Amino acid sequence: MRAEIVAIGTELLLGQIIDTNSTWIAEQLAVAGIDCLYQSRVGDNIERIVDVLSHALSRSDAVITCGGLGPTQDDITREAIAKVMGVELLRDADAERRVREMFASRGRDMSENNLRQAEVPVGGRIITQVIGSAPGLICPVGDKVIYALPGVPHEMREMVTRAVLEDLSRRSGETSTIRSRVLRTFGIAESKIAEIVTPRFEALENGGAGGPRIAFLASGIEGVKVRITVKAATEAEARVLLDQEELALRALLGESVFGIDDETMEHSLGEVLRDKGLTLGLAESFTGGLISSRIVAVVGASRWFRGALVAYNEEVKYQALGVAPGPVVSAAAAISMAEGACSLLGSDVAISTTGVAGPDEQEGHPVGTCFVGLVVRGRSSESLVLRLSGDRQRIRELATIAALGNMRRILLGP
Ligand code: ATP
Repeated sequence: MRAEIVAIGTELLLGQIIDTNSTWIAEQLAVAGIDCLYQSRVGDNIERIVDVLSHALSRSDAVITCGGLGPTQDDITREAIAKVMGVELLRDADAERRVREMFASRGRDMSENNLRQAEVPVGGRIITQVIGSAPGLICPVGDKVIYALPGVPHEMREMVTRAVLEDLSRRSGETSTIRSRVLRTFGIAESKIAEIVTPRFEALENGGAGGPRIAFLASGIEGVKVRITVKAATEAEARVLLDQEELALRALLGESVFGIDDETMEHSLGEVLRDKGLTLGLAESFTGGLISSRIVAVVGASRWFRGALVAYNEEVKYQALGVAPGPVVSAAAAISMAEGACSLLGSDVAISTTGVAGPDEQEGHPVGTCFVGLVVRGRSSESLVLRLSGDRQRIRELATIAALGNMRRILLGP
């Protein structure tokens, strides 16, 4: 089974938006074991869309389009597919009802244009919309197929996961299931991770076709991801294989693994705090609330997060947190800030940040110098100095993840 992706929209060609949809779909196809040999982008022009789709169908078994399913005149993906199929577009009564209901339920007026979204090329069928207003389409063309999905990323993803992958694997005659799990690591460079995991990687590669596979995915400031992919007859068997491989990799990578799949560092830190019955407070200077913003995004954070003080001005550091008058970009100031946060916010544990995010140096420290205070009341007061590079935003984000990751490390330590 060969699939290819066609992203539709003039804004993609003008560089106004980045084609993240194709990247995401390609990743899902790879995990599902479906070859994706081409990706194209085309503007909102009917002849050119027809041309790209026809060409795609001449060399692939399945074509997945995204974009151009909306209600406006430049949303012409449906028309183009009907042309490629050589059929009419007909309005589908169920789809029309759903579009009408969606507008009614939101108390919005519906213009007639929106009913374009209920049109289906004869022979095609609808992928009902669970979110958003545009239904998707599954359109057979001879023994091949075109899937049309909305451009809005979360609507597109929902349809791929719910309808497209299943239909593709049914068509490909593939009865096994392919599943993957991502182990997220922090604190070890990608080259080092590769070195640690190499023996396992090689053992799997030499184990022959069909066995589990591992791959490394550097994910910028959030650490390195190690993805395990397995193939099995059933979902349950796949889970067992994933569990086994996860255990083998955790034995090699130790506590640098902070979560799996979508679990974030703050989620992981929250679990450690909750298990230990500890609460967290923050005193943030140049991170300006970035750490607390990530923490409050964790469901249930109220059980372990006391609060945060953005202590930006030095007077606030002195007066609210009890930092001794003097330099505020220092290890001593970072520790005082964290200790001050424990007292002020009544937390057992506190993290502080103070540093130079740029563009100018401060107190003789070059841009990127950051001190992180890490205090566990009655147990330890440490500071960490980081020398980070990048622009102001990147430095703040790097310091944020380092602060969270190091507090987790300390709490898990002896
Ligand atoms: P809907 O009717 O649900 O709005 P649509 O199929 O008409 O969807 P478009 O109008 O083409 O979709 O795109 C809607 C928005 O989705 C775009 O403005 C853009 O923000 C995003 N989008 C579209 N295509 C892509 C893409 N390939 N990658 C990332 N985002 C995209």
